[in-house]
Amino acid sequence: MPPESGSKRSSSASQTVVVCPNELCHSELPAGRGRGYCAECGEAWTRCSKCGRAISTLWQFCPTDGIPAEAWSSSLYGASPKFADPEPRTIEIGEESWTAPVSYGGYLWTISTEGNVFRLSPANEVPVLVENLGKEFGRHPFTILRKKEGGRPLLVAVGTRRVALMDPAIHKPEDEPLCSRSLPREENFVLLDDSYSSVAVSNQQVAYLKRKRETQSDPTPESERKPGDLFLAVGTRRANNVELEDEFAVSSEKACGPFVLGQRICLYTDDQFLFLDGQRLQSYPLPRDFHPVIDPEGESPFDVWWGHPPYVVFPSGAYIPGELNGVACFQFVELIGSRPKFSDPKIPEGGAYRPTSDEGLVIASRGSLKHLWRTRLSDALQPERDTQIMAGPALLTDDFEVALCQGAAKGRQLRLYPGGRERADIDDEVTPIDLFLFPGYLTLTSRLENHLEVISWPLVSSA
Ligand SMILES: [Zn+2]
Ligand SMILES: [Zn+2]
Repeated sequence: MPPESGSKRSSSASQTVVVCPNELCHSELPAGRGRGYCAECGEAWTRCSKCGRAISTLWQFCPTDGIPAEAWSSSLYGASPKFADPEPRTIEIGEESWTAPVSYGGYLWTISTEGNVFRLSPANEVPVLVENLGKEFGRHPFTILRKKEGGRPLLVAVGTRRVALMDPAIHKPEDEPLCSRSLPREENFVLLDDSYSSVAVSNQQVAYLKRKRETQSDPTPESERKPGDLFLAVGTRRANNVELEDEFAVSSEKACGPFVLGQRICLYTDDQFLFLDGQRLQSYPLPRDFHPVIDPEGESPFDVWWGHPPYVVFPSGAYIPGELNGVACFQFVELIGSRPKFSDPKIPEGGAYRPTSDEGLVIASRGSLKHLWRTRLSDALQPERDTQIMAGPALLTDDFEVALCQGAAKGRQLRLYPGGRERADIDDEVTPIDLFLFPGYLTLTSRLENHLEVISWPLVSSA
């Protein structure tokens, strides 16, 4: 990245030359494109809709004219993508990583067990170290809240004893970190590593699950101890701090959540749906004979990808996978007034599933690809039979063009549907976790022991 490359600008009309928004790079970007990645440094950029200059996807405003930067969507690619190059680019992080990466602003974000927050661009092989949160982070859930118009995004990470808030747009280590930690009242708790636990933020509330147990004077060996009592911890965000205020007992051994539905913090156990209503944790029974996917170690007709919660939440409602009388199904739950309403579309084969832009799901079973919208299940595509789906589906377009990572007799492959003729081979040592779509790239995350590998294939539109 030569810093002097900025001098190229003077030779042509300044309006027509677009340069990389990374001030250490300033390479020339391809004219005529609306967004993409800098080929030199991997910076994700979009064009300002007013002045046309390239701005970072993490900025709030265009620095030239101050108009708010548009939220960056990575879901839409363009028509009929195909692989531009069968040789992928691989990023490896030399630190252990226990949490599933999160996609935000054209990058993948991950926190290592050293507490280092890394930003990974599919167009660059060098991970960017954004911040060190400290060693207690990186073993528990984190989330990135998308910026509202003109506002800042927020990375929220739960540590062993604290919550950290951070602006992910900080990208230079010498910047003043917008990171704060606060200490909950109780100290004798451990966070869950035996459940699908996440962190939920609604308005100023930050919620997560925790277990409490006696840490002193208990002679029982660690392996024989019972799991402690389960609590929903709810803190309040004040400026850049989270102050823990309430703990609500969850009378069950396992729970799944929390997540936000209709601005309420919700979670579920094996037979109850719970949500916060002011100072009370309200509880309603789940439909009779429905058993939600709740145990990461348990049997399930659905493939829940490593590091992800099994439920899928949209503004209109949430899909909870499980079994009803032995048949795979999703409960679609809406909060109407202050009561949950359930409906139970059946998915005969179960399978792997991902959200769609119409607030539905695309479900990949062994022999078919289906689209579920609330209770309506329809056929989408036919992937090749007799293959094992290892990651995906990643939705490439709104017309149900998808990418699947498949295992077959010939080995592991990434295939693009419809047709499935577009394919790229994957190394046998790769353990696929998840597929992400970025403009111009299809990215596979993989685990090698406790290390995260991020493998990206460039895509082009064939239409
Ligand atoms: Zn650049
Ligand atoms: Zn502008």
